[in-house]
Amino acid sequence: MLNPIREARVAEVLSSAPQSSEGTLRRAFSGSASPRGAIKAQCLLCVGFDRNEVKNCSGYSCPLWAYRPYQDAERAVGDAGEPAPDRSSGGRPEAAEAGA
Ligand code: SF4
Repeated sequence: MLNPIREARVAEVLSSAPQSSEGTLRRAFSGSASPRGAIKAQCLLCVGFDRNEVKNCSGYSCPLWAYRPYQDAERAVGDAGEPAPDRSSGGRPEAAEAGA
């Protein structure tokens, strides 16, 4: 059972989300999303569910910026110009950093 305040807030967010993002949000809210899926949900929520806005996000100081979905391969670089996190880890940034 969710905290009643959280439950109300989650219901409010879900009611305003487009159908295309509802599953992503539901998995994140329930705790069943992968870390990558949770980041996707946060980014979509952050920009009003516009995938292009996530792709072109200018929130360079956001800790999620390097991990946000919908990036072009050439833009997918870290803060110091290093290659983007290894996406083959199933979206688990900590696994990519550890070489898993
Ligand atoms: S990376 Fe951009 S879109 Fe994603 S949460 Fe941060 S500021 Fe928002």
